[in-house]
Amino acid sequence: MAGSDHRDDFGNGGDVEPQPLPRLGIPPGHTPNTVLQSVLDHLPIGVAINTTEKGIIGYANRAFLEIYGGSLKEECTDLETFFASVFPDPAKRAQVRLRILSGLAEGGMEPMQWDDLRITSQDGAEKIVSVRNIPIPELDLMVSTVQDLTLSRYMEQALRESERRYQVMAEASPVGIVRVDTDGLCCHVNKRWREITGLTPIQALGRLWYEAVHPDDREAIAERWNSAVAKGRGFKGECRIKSDGGKTFWVFVQGEPIFDQSGRLEGYIATVTDISRRKRSEEEIRQLAYYDSLTRLPNRSFFLEQLERALAAARRAQRRVAVLFCDLDNFKDINDTLGHDFGDLLLKSIGDRLSASIRRGDTLSRLGGDEFVLLLPWVTTDGEILAVVRKIKDAMTAPFMLNGHEVFTSTSIGIAVFPEDGKDVQTLLKHADTAMYAAKGRGRNRYQFFSEDMNRRTLNRLRLENGLRQAVDRNELTLVWQPQYNLESGALVGVEALLRWESPDLGRVPPGTFIPLAEETGLIHGIGAWVLREACLQARRWRDQGKQPVRVAVNLSGKQFLEPGLQDLVGKILAETGLAPEALELEITESVLMRDAQVAQRTLNSLSRDGIQLAIDDFGTGYSSLLYLKNYPVNRIKIAREFIRDITTEPNDAAIAETVIAMARSLSMNALAEGVETREQADFLRRLGCPEVQGFYFGKPMSADEFGALMP
Ligand code: C2E
Ligand code: MG
Ligand code: MG
Repeated sequence: MAGSDHRDDFGNGGDVEPQPLPRLGIPPGHTPNTVLQSVLDHLPIGVAINTTEKGIIGYANRAFLEIYGGSLKEECTDLETFFASVFPDPAKRAQVRLRILSGLAEGGMEPMQWDDLRITSQDGAEKIVSVRNIPIPELDLMVSTVQDLTLSRYMEQALRESERRYQVMAEASPVGIVRVDTDGLCCHVNKRWREITGLTPIQALGRLWYEAVHPDDREAIAERWNSAVAKGRGFKGECRIKSDGGKTFWVFVQGEPIFDQSGRLEGYIATVTDISRRKRSEEEIRQLAYYDSLTRLPNRSFFLEQLERALAAARRAQRRVAVLFCDLDNFKDINDTLGHDFGDLLLKSIGDRLSASIRRGDTLSRLGGDEFVLLLPWVTTDGEILAVVRKIKDAMTAPFMLNGHEVFTSTSIGIAVFPEDGKDVQTLLKHADTAMYAAKGRGRNRYQFFSEDMNRRTLNRLRLENGLRQAVDRNELTLVWQPQYNLESGALVGVEALLRWESPDLGRVPPGTFIPLAEETGLIHGIGAWVLREACLQARRWRDQGKQPVRVAVNLSGKQFLEPGLQDLVGKILAETGLAPEALELEITESVLMRDAQVAQRTLNSLSRDGIQLAIDDFGTGYSSLLYLKNYPVNRIKIAREFIRDITTEPNDAAIAETVIAMARSLSMNALAEGVETREQADFLRRLGCPEVQGFYFGKPMSADEFGALMP
């Protein structure tokens, strides 16, 4: 193919008016033929030129040879041989040939096309090609183009495989998987998601994914989702899903953004993990940590947290918060007499009743024991608080019928209000507690608002209590002695031991102040035992000094008297000190006898049997009748100072004193008038026939040495 006119070289003539070829600059040393060959060799597509007549491949470019897998050897230029080499399977070969032949038969030459034709290349590799045969009738040639599709078909296949595997995996995943577009509409959901939501595939697709979220959580989740989409970021969250079947699942949702090739956000793939079990155990742990197992009410920790929250809210909104501290009035007695199981039952019923009577939004908690506390996070007036107090009282009015017992109980309520009574949790709770104690102090079934003054009293009480705890050990306690005389003969017949406490911090504290406190705190047991031992030791010392023994009277507090070990304690001390039981007199107030008549009777009987003398102190102040006393083995009645004080001017008091003296005599008991301060009183009592007296007129309480000097 030589010559400069490429038109001729290509022989591009025929019936069609030939188009002029663009003028190509032929590089030096090249002919149009070599140019064309180079061009063909650089095409990425295989090209072969065959003569239709002879069935011979006349030309093949480089791409063709690459697909074919070698050089076209002489023998292969023959189409038959070529077919035999690329279609080793005779059936396949016949099929291809038939097609070509039929194409030829039908009007000479027809363009033909095979897609995805499998051939075997020279090196034995299977290839997938697409072939087009383009007849060029005027040249009696056939041009074949061959395109190697092996790689792209393989990749398509791999993609399909991977897609299928993804589908299988997604379907089998124990985690819900949802693919959504940027609007949040579901494009693909897996089986687990459908199970969780209870939706069919049709229902699930094209639907806003967070429509499945529980209405209570939906807003929060939607907000999170929207902000993630706006920023093209991932998102996470826990929420409940309300299944169409009515079941509720707790799930953890994690969405990862997916971007298209240009980096535009295309949507999200969200995994949805069922965390219901974890939530359930968390809830159980919460129950244990925050709820009282007996009443199922919130406990102290929960209450403190709630209060903290309420205070934070109240500070912002400038509102008041009330804390009502409720304590049962007689729970200890009920527990002691009917047993702990019964006590538990009662607490439970009380919890139920109180819960039923509180308003929505208020929290009732049990702090422990018989202490309940009510939090009113939103109050404005005291009137509102009192309305709640009234409800609590009403709830407690009816008796509790439990295990066949009918039990009445009541509560004392202390109230502290934010901000006036305290600005923080601890202060409010402490002040409500203080107010509750104040309410109790005024009698049962009362309520009391906190006041600063109360705080001062509590503080004093606390200082007293702390001081008293150490009083015995620090030798701050002493006894003083007040003589008792026979009014007729003037003889010294006895002495009353009276306790004194001189505190280095608080100074001299009167017994009227510290003894009730010692009773409340239980310190009285230690202190009382000390007094008893000290009094007996002193009596022993006087005897050792050669004094005539006199009766030594020791005061017993109610708690001490009702204590089961009293008799043993007294016996032990008497044995230790070698004192005769008759030399000891124990004084108890009549109110103690009234408190528990049976125990009192038993104790008095056994003490009396041991030979110990018994006196009723402050008689007349406790409303008991003398006749009532006749059942008790009492040696002496001490007429209370209150009746002696105005005995010479108040006929009523005189009459009472006279009756007591007369009746005591008829019951073979001795009467002793306390607090005799004047000679007139002494004379008056003498006229009434009062056998014994005690009082400042005859002798003030004095030291042991001073008293020893009085003894004969
Ligand atoms: P009490 O047993 O009735 O003791 C008599 C109280 O009257 C004593 O007060 C005594 O100092 C006071 N007193 C005696 N004569 C007169 C008088 O002529 N005029 C006036 N105005 N008072 C007189 P004190 O020592 O202050 O004791 C008060 C109460 O404390 C006692 O009343 C007793 O109930 C209790 N107490 C004292 N010591 C003890 C003790 O060791 N144990 C217990 N449990 N209670 C004690
Ligand atoms: Mg006394
Ligand atoms: Mg007295």
